[in-house]
Amino acid sequence: PLSLNDDIEEHLITVAVRKRPLNESDLQKKEIDIVTILNKNTLVVHEPKYKVDLTKYLENHTFKFDYNFNETCSNEMVYRFTAQPLLKTVFEGGFATCFAYGQTGSGKTYTMSGAFGENDNEQGIYALAATDIFQEVNSLKLKHLNLVISCSFFEIYIKKVSDLLNNKKTLKILEDGKQQVQVVGLTEKVVSSVAEVLDVIRQGNIERASGQTSANLNSSRSHAIFQIYLRAKSNMKRVYGKFSLIDLAGNERGADTFSSSRITRLEGSEINQSLLSLKECIRALGRRGAHLPFRGSKLTQVLRDSFVGANSKTCMIAMVSPCVSSCENTLNTLRYADRVK
Ligand code: ADP
Ligand code: MG
Repeated sequence: PLSLNDDIEEHLITVAVRKRPLNESDLQKKEIDIVTILNKNTLVVHEPKYKVDLTKYLENHTFKFDYNFNETCSNEMVYRFTAQPLLKTVFEGGFATCFAYGQTGSGKTYTMSGAFGENDNEQGIYALAATDIFQEVNSLKLKHLNLVISCSFFEIYIKKVSDLLNNKKTLKILEDGKQQVQVVGLTEKVVSSVAEVLDVIRQGNIERASGQTSANLNSSRSHAIFQIYLRAKSNMKRVYGKFSLIDLAGNERGADTFSSSRITRLEGSEINQSLLSLKECIRALGRRGAHLPFRGSKLTQVLRDSFVGANSKTCMIAMVSPCVSSCENTLNTLRYADRVK
């Protein structure tokens, strides 16, 4: 498995997989672990009926990625190889994106927002990135740029864009003649410390969960987009660099028998469409100059500037559950991640 001493590679597009551990409730249901990470690059899914003879089916269900993180890896470890290397791009005045992809319950929010429970207290990628950004912006190397840090947090549910820092106010997306896309009226909060960023994240997450019942778990059906902006004090109108961190909607198809609520057909087709567009846009980023189908969804529309430009980089962390009951979703997730590059 990966160790902290492993080399950090340079990629335009990094694709990684993170497997979460079996939890209490999985164990109660006598779930079986069907995901094995063989090494840094190789992961095997062994369907239950084949589990006795893994080698025989190794070929069919073997996947290769830039990094695979097993269930013992911490958020910090995942961060180190995925989001952290993108900061260089942001400090150089570029646009970086980091996506958490996977079915509901696979660990997207755990990875991005962190865990703040009694047994488990771990900062997520939002906080880890913010910490590094403050440190670097105040360092000798960047001090002369006089950069101001601000952040925004919004969600996209079906076609609706809501500001998580302003009572879920509905926002419009506008495209000007020069193909610049703007989320009109989006709250952008200037922050001067990591603590303030953590506060923004906490507020946004509370806002995100508000109005939800177990029959209407729409936070798992929406994309949450957290953005950190760097602007030079002398020219606040222009964005110097931007880091977008996205907790995507659950990618499970149709009526998922294992989630507590059914996905409506409208939600399902909308999520599917946006994830397909996302894949196409990331692929276009990898083939510079290729047509960028950013109008395929609101998600890709608002991220347009991050898929063009000479200095854009992205990473996708595909989350998988180890459970046998999630086998189909896990294979779907891995196949998607496999086609992003
Ligand atoms: P998602 O956002 O993809 O729906 P969550 O992040 O909410 O999934 O994770 C589902 C559950 O699994 C939560 O209880 C979370 O704390 C737990 N979990 C997810 N990933 C991990 C991990 N790497 N280590 C420990 N617990 C995890
Ligand atoms: Mg979540």
